[in-house]
Amino acid sequence: MSQPTTYKAELVGAFGHPIAENPTVVMQEAAFHALDLNWRYLTIEVYPQDLAAAMAGLRAMNFRGINLTIPHKVEVLKYLDEVAPDAALIGAVNTVRRVGNKLIGENTDGKGFLRALQDVPIDPRGKKVIILGAGGAAKAIGMELALAGAGHITIVNRTRERGQELVDALNVKTRTPAHFVAWHTTCAIPPDTDIVVNATSIGLFPDVESKPDLAYGTITAHMIACDVIPNPLHTRFLQAAEDRGAKTLDGLGMLVYQGAIGFKMWTGQDAPIEVMYRALQEVFG
Ligand code: NDP
Repeated sequence: MSQPTTYKAELVGAFGHPIAENPTVVMQEAAFHALDLNWRYLTIEVYPQDLAAAMAGLRAMNFRGINLTIPHKVEVLKYLDEVAPDAALIGAVNTVRRVGNKLIGENTDGKGFLRALQDVPIDPRGKKVIILGAGGAAKAIGMELALAGAGHITIVNRTRERGQELVDALNVKTRTPAHFVAWHTTCAIPPDTDIVVNATSIGLFPDVESKPDLAYGTITAHMIACDVIPNPLHTRFLQAAEDRGAKTLDGLGMLVYQGAIGFKMWTGQDAPIEVMYRALQEVFG
């Protein structure tokens, strides 16, 4: 048996609450294993009131980085030395990388979504986009689509303040015009729409029978319908769009690519995308 050159593993992981059902560890550990890296990914329950202590612990234990999930993505900004420009625009961080003694905040969610679009393939430049939702995922996707040159973005959200805030940020901070639609009744999709993104949690396991309240008859075959939900892969929303002849993109690609971008930030190596896909496909059956 060959001897390891070091017994000290490099540490990364995720802080969240709840966190137990987050499957990221499976794809990151599979990637470390595939590249024979002595790295470990730890899934760590951190309660909201303990984030400061957890971030201090991260520094003390020389973690190489961390993922943040609900409810820490915004709060973590207080504990970082630097924030990447796009993460600052989004106002949320899902990945921290350590460079020397500095902790730098990044947001890979929207970048992962953009990368998944390339596989369709679809180029967002000049496209008319409708985003359902205005939470963390919607913000990251909206900002990255705008930075990538989307032609127009409509934010459809139940809570006016949240939706209007994202629209204002897009209009002030990017060159892509955006407008807000309040979501109180069934929403029709305008015929000139190119991309419809469900960035809400409607349809997420165990609520698998739900789908966003849309006039599905207004979805046409030239549109592409994207869901951020990775579990289940084939949501009711995607099923209904497919029935209308639209192309669809499920949430797995976004999940894999946002993790792959984080992997590269941490290790400096290209992520084994296929290995990560397979690992998560096994998780989601
Ligand atoms: P947030 O809680 O920040 O936002 C949730 C959004 O969904 C809000 O806009 C909320 O509207 C809306 N929403 C929730 N329930 C309803 C409902 N019944 N009717 C209308 N609107 C509703 O969550 P995130 O943005 O962090 O996550 C959203 C989804 O994205 C989750 O399913 C998550 O799993 C997924 N995700 C996937 C990723 C991937 O890599 N594939 C990465 C990150 C997230 P309101 O403002 O009115 O409350």
